[in-house]
Amino acid sequence: MPNHKVFIFSCPEYEPETITDRTSQAINHFGIRAKIRGNIVIKPNLVMAHPKVATESYTRSEVVEGIIRTILKNGTDVDRIDIVEKSGLGITTATAFRHAGYRKLKRKYGVGLVAMEESTQVRLGLDNGKIHKSIRVARAIADRDFLIFAPKLKTNVLSNAYSGALKLNIGSIDSKERMYHHNMDLHKKMIDVLEIANPDLIITDGIRFAFGGNQMTQHGMDLGVLIISANAVAHDMVCARMLNLDPFKIEHIKEAIDRGYGPGSFDDIEILGDLPISNIQEKTKDLDYGYYPVDQFKCNFKIISGTPYCTGGCQGIFLDWLHMVKDRKLKTLNRFPKLTALVGKVTGKIEDKTVLLVGDCAQASTNIHAKRIVRIKGCPPTHKRIVWDMMVKFFLLAPLVRPSLIWDGFGLYPLKKLKGWLVNLKFKPSQRS
Ligand code: SF4
Repeated sequence: MPNHKVFIFSCPEYEPETITDRTSQAINHFGIRAKIRGNIVIKPNLVMAHPKVATESYTRSEVVEGIIRTILKNGTDVDRIDIVEKSGLGITTATAFRHAGYRKLKRKYGVGLVAMEESTQVRLGLDNGKIHKSIRVARAIADRDFLIFAPKLKTNVLSNAYSGALKLNIGSIDSKERMYHHNMDLHKKMIDVLEIANPDLIITDGIRFAFGGNQMTQHGMDLGVLIISANAVAHDMVCARMLNLDPFKIEHIKEAIDRGYGPGSFDDIEILGDLPISNIQEKTKDLDYGYYPVDQFKCNFKIISGTPYCTGGCQGIFLDWLHMVKDRKLKTLNRFPKLTALVGKVTGKIEDKTVLLVGDCAQASTNIHAKRIVRIKGCPPTHKRIVWDMMVKFFLLAPLVRPSLIWDGFGLYPLKKLKGWLVNLKFKPSQRS
């Protein structure tokens, strides 16, 4: 008898009532209704939301509205509901809440919108962390009684093409800790966070599926599916298989299985619902997820990938930047200057007029003969750093180079961080028992 259940429901429209109905059905089946009480946190994927350049890669507000209604319908003694997030790219989470339509949820249901960078945080110790011995999270997450993950079904070249429930936890931590060991160890740090933020319920927005490009700017298609489970590993295993990916080759799923967070085989998972998995597999079988070695990206750059190969670091982030340009400014690819880009340490002789060194390992490549050497430092460099450096050093405008986003990233974001720092002066770090 399988220990884990995953529902795959047909859900063709962004209709909150349908989402509430499907989720309530699953909750009754899981027998977790009595646990929906006290302080409830919903963690969506709002890595970025923007009406022009990031339209598909975030959890839609209708799904979160359906979840809120589910809580109100099924919960008892619910004290408060908070939506907690930390967006990516050094853009303010408040802006993502606004663009994604979450403010109306606050007005309509009185839920809290907690932007981690400007909220109270606590540092929690980890007993089994491989990368982190402790982590700062939003106080709302530390104090919650019930945690709901609402991931977006999408691809991500930084995490072996798949982004779901387990990957969502990177958005539970803030900038410095988020970038710490964001390299070949990304899967380990993701699963470290699970120790303190393991969801009780997962509802994935697969009504539109975002795929094939940059995790923020990629395009999407109708898939009409809602995936619901009470175990993050079982959930991600089923989603990966649904997308014709092998979950046992996805490092963070494998890591979670190895650490005992979920089933080790599909024999221990019962797939329920009204939509056969084969139906979705058929729809996604010929899609290009854009997940390949960075040196295979076709453009004017000659890209040489050295060592190490960091899927979650330099190679993955540079590939993600290339996809960002391809997703939204395809013509810019033709304007790329001829140059050689090294990602990772390269020992062979490199000769070109211009050589671009991406990341700290590339800086250690010594046998370079070039008139101009351009360096983008970091282990790894952030998306924001790459976008900025490619703009000022090569006049290459990524789609995210827009006045509103520049103001947001370089003006507003530091102010929000300052606010967060001031707010946290009042609180001492605490441990969750
Ligand atoms: S500098 Fe880049 S390639 Fe080197 S370890 Fe860091 S992320 Fe990996």
